[in-house]
Amino acid sequence: MNTSLKIYLTSFLILILFAPVAHAKNTPDKPFTVIIDPGHGGKDPGAVFKQIKEKDIVLNIGLKLGQYIKENLPDVKVVYTRDKDVFVPLHRRADIANKSKADLFISLHANYCGTPAITGTETFVLGLHRTEENLEVAKKENAVILMEDDYSSTYQGFDPNSSESYIMFEMVQDEHLTQSIDVAAAIQGQFKNRAGRKDRGVKQAGFLVLRRTSMPSVLVEAGFLSNNGEANYMKSSTGQSHLASAIYRAVRDYKKAIDNKSNYKLVAQTTQELAQETIKQPETPPTPTVKTSNTDIFFSIQLAASGKKLATAPYNFKGLKEVQRKQVQSIYKYYYGKTSSFESIKQLRNQVKSLYPDAFIVAFEGEKPISINKALRKLKP
Ligand SMILES: [Zn+2]
Repeated sequence: MNTSLKIYLTSFLILILFAPVAHAKNTPDKPFTVIIDPGHGGKDPGAVFKQIKEKDIVLNIGLKLGQYIKENLPDVKVVYTRDKDVFVPLHRRADIANKSKADLFISLHANYCGTPAITGTETFVLGLHRTEENLEVAKKENAVILMEDDYSSTYQGFDPNSSESYIMFEMVQDEHLTQSIDVAAAIQGQFKNRAGRKDRGVKQAGFLVLRRTSMPSVLVEAGFLSNNGEANYMKSSTGQSHLASAIYRAVRDYKKAIDNKSNYKLVAQTTQELAQETIKQPETPPTPTVKTSNTDIFFSIQLAASGKKLATAPYNFKGLKEVQRKQVQSIYKYYYGKTSSFESIKQLRNQVKSLYPDAFIVAFEGEKPISINKALRKLKP
């Protein structure tokens, strides 16, 4: 047996031995972690109705939710972005989640609108709003950044009150979107069945706090403070317990589904590797496989979007060379990198993350933006 073959077989063995560890999410050193993010706090009361403050309601629901998880799911780790009445900037909330390498992010809020008759719960995932109504909810929640120092530079000129700012969410390609929708749907289902709330559905809008988290993330609007009955329900200890219990059940069910899925993946992957090994010619040293593609599908990284037409010179992009600019209606989008390898683009994104924390991967077919999933499907050999 020649040396390169030995190395080859050894590396296969290592793969088989260690792949399960790498893919099982709930190893002892990395428990399934849930971030509970009660919105607002401190100098920011959120919505207020007859002295009932959003910040107090969502903190109570959050604390109860954490307590239910700890009591019933002892292998799940709970991290709070705040567990008392303090002001926490939006970007800091996402940082806490990302640093914890969390598996799920739940932001808790209460709604408010000008029509007191409107009631119900809604759970949002990140994306471009489909209705003006959804845009208004995002504007209201994003407006808290105006209370942060340096918000303009922290959020790269994002104006929470300007509809134009939200165009950037059009191109959001969230790799966790499917899972986020699963969680959101589970929460809405429990709100309806467990807590007897009116279900306003799973919605999409551009929430800054969801934009920065790198895990499945949802934003819950637990009811309307502008409605007398719902405000009193959310203020009551019973109401808060029911709402928290509903969210807890959704978390429990989601985790169960994830656990089942990762076990399945684990088995499938190991079998595949073993099968691959047996069909290899024993005396032929491996040749690196080069994926060739005849299509014009590629990935890139969107660094920024702006109403300003900037020269794509390195001095405008923190030293990055060969930045590309595309005009989409009245907005200029700036892209970095071009490759048909998803692995390469992920590496590149990690490299630019310190410069552009909000940069995200996009996919194109020729000039046309397509979803990452579609690109991956089409690139499959
Ligand atoms: Zn809020």
